[in-house]
Amino acid sequence: MMRTRHRRPKSLTRLPLSDAIRTLRLTLLAALALGLPVVVLASGHWGAVRARADLLAGSRGTLDLFLANLTSEVDKNEAVPFLLARDHDVMALLATPAPSPALVDRLNRRLEETRIAVHAATIYVMNRQGLTIAASNWNTEGSFLGQAFAYRPYFQAALTGGVGRYFALGTTSHQPGYYIADPVSAENRTGSPVVGAVVIKVGMERVEQGWAAGPERVAVTDSDGVIVITNNAPWRFHSLTPLAAAERIRIEANHKYADLAITPLAITTQPFEAAMPFAPSKTHFLMVSGAVAGTDWTLHVLCDPAPIRSRAVAAALIGGFAMMIVILAGFLVLGRWFRARERAIEQQRAREDVERRVQERTSDLAEAYDQLSREMRDRERAEQVLRTAQTELIQAAKLAALGQMSAGVAHEINQPLSAIRAFAENAVTLLERGRTATVHDNLVQIAELTQRMADITRHLKGFARKAAGTLGPVSLPDTVHKALMLVAPQIRAAGIDLALTNRMVEQVGEPNRLPPVRAEDVRLQQVLVNLFTNAIDAMKDRTRPRLIIDLDHDADAGEVILRVRDTGPGIAVADLPHLFLPFFTTKGATEGLGLGLSITSGIVKDFGGTIAAANHPDGGAEFIIRLQPMESPR
Ligand code: ADP
Repeated sequence: MMRTRHRRPKSLTRLPLSDAIRTLRLTLLAALALGLPVVVLASGHWGAVRARADLLAGSRGTLDLFLANLTSEVDKNEAVPFLLARDHDVMALLATPAPSPALVDRLNRRLEETRIAVHAATIYVMNRQGLTIAASNWNTEGSFLGQAFAYRPYFQAALTGGVGRYFALGTTSHQPGYYIADPVSAENRTGSPVVGAVVIKVGMERVEQGWAAGPERVAVTDSDGVIVITNNAPWRFHSLTPLAAAERIRIEANHKYADLAITPLAITTQPFEAAMPFAPSKTHFLMVSGAVAGTDWTLHVLCDPAPIRSRAVAAALIGGFAMMIVILAGFLVLGRWFRARERAIEQQRAREDVERRVQERTSDLAEAYDQLSREMRDRERAEQVLRTAQTELIQAAKLAALGQMSAGVAHEINQPLSAIRAFAENAVTLLERGRTATVHDNLVQIAELTQRMADITRHLKGFARKAAGTLGPVSLPDTVHKALMLVAPQIRAAGIDLALTNRMVEQVGEPNRLPPVRAEDVRLQQVLVNLFTNAIDAMKDRTRPRLIIDLDHDADAGEVILRVRDTGPGIAVADLPHLFLPFFTTKGATEGLGLGLSITSGIVKDFGGTIAAANHPDGGAEFIIRLQPMESPR
């Protein structure tokens, strides 16, 4: 059968995978190249936005906290001048142009005690002319006593009956402070003329100290935009933005900042909402501002935008790395997936290949089986034909043999018949002569001759009987004798010298030691007659014809051996292979059918024996038959 195996070349099965992986690799590289800048920028932007929001929230928190802190500091001190302005001693002090030194002294001490109690810088009382007539720092150098501050805006505000609030550098102390002035009325009622003012100066050191810790810069600007309180000392008394010329003149006129020249800070600020500052700078700040309640101040929280930049950079790096990791992981996972798929496909293919091969083999086998059974059927049929032919041939051969034998038998019977007739005629004559004794001898001779004739016919009958087909123990010497009797006339006519040896008799002196063979008497006779006839034929023209029959028993091989040898010309070597084939003959058409040996070998095989032909070293042909011994039932 032609087999068409669809085995794919290996490169073809691999190609799609490497293609797929190459495509995947290119796609992922392209994604990396295009996506990386986008992801880096986006995550950087996101980081910056988050950082700015965090910074803004922190700054707002700081702003609210500090506003509350500052307001409470101011509020706390607002009560002090309010209460003192209604104090009897203060009113008594201002009621007269020349107060008693005892009153002044007592008031000085009370103001000092109060200042210490409320942590104020100074508390003092001014008369209508702006002259300080009692002060908490009465006993220190640079005391306010006797000093006039009529030009101060807070005093002027108090004179009009309102509360004066003002931030300034102390002209004497040069300490910055928040001044709160409450008017003192002549009588303790509204509408009463103002006779003076009680002023408290609150130092901002404590507030500033509380603010110093934070990372943000905090600055409080007054109504002129000048920084008056800050946790960054160098910024104090600088303006956040440059001042107008007229403004500067006014500030210098009322000695608000003593004799300090106000210059703008060398910084830039911008609200959180403004565009992102990317250029790093130490003087650029993000700023949130809020008004301080109860004052004209504004509190600013300034913060360094550097964290925005660093967080933007960190987020960009993280984003970039994350993307690379995702792409790498994607590559690994997809690569593994592709490989697993390829393995699965290859396994599937291998399975299919095996299945196909199994199918092919199965159909091959089925075909071979069909072929075999066809051949067997043909053979059976041929054997059947052969068997039929063989049976017919055997019968034909028997007839031929019978024909051949009839002549011999007729000759054999004619001889005793004519002898009997001679004896009978002779007996009649002798009876007439009364020689009864000689008549008796003649009758005995006649009886012997008829016995001999009966023997011959008995053998012929036995030979003509159809083979019974059942095998049994047969005595080989007996059968040899019977066969020899059948061919005796030819042997005698040809003058053949007969030699029969039974080796078992020679060895043990007992013919029965040659075991019976597994055969059938009549068919074995037929075999022997055939061999003998062939030998007789072969020795027809020989000068000293001799037929040698030899019986033997090979106990080890478990066989009884019969050898039939002649002194004829032997068998041509070229003929040896064909000898046992039907119709092989070297004799003329009228003499031989070429069936004898074929039938002979068929019969021997039926007995389970073998037959072989050879040329004897001393000349002549030798046929060797081996038969199975078979013990006769006792
Ligand atoms: P047939 O005798 O009719 O030819 P056989 O089958 O008996 O047929 O013998 C076949 C041939 O075998 C003979 O023609 C002969 O050539 C050869 N053959 C048989 N026996 C002998 C023998 N004893 N010596 C020589 N040739 C023999």
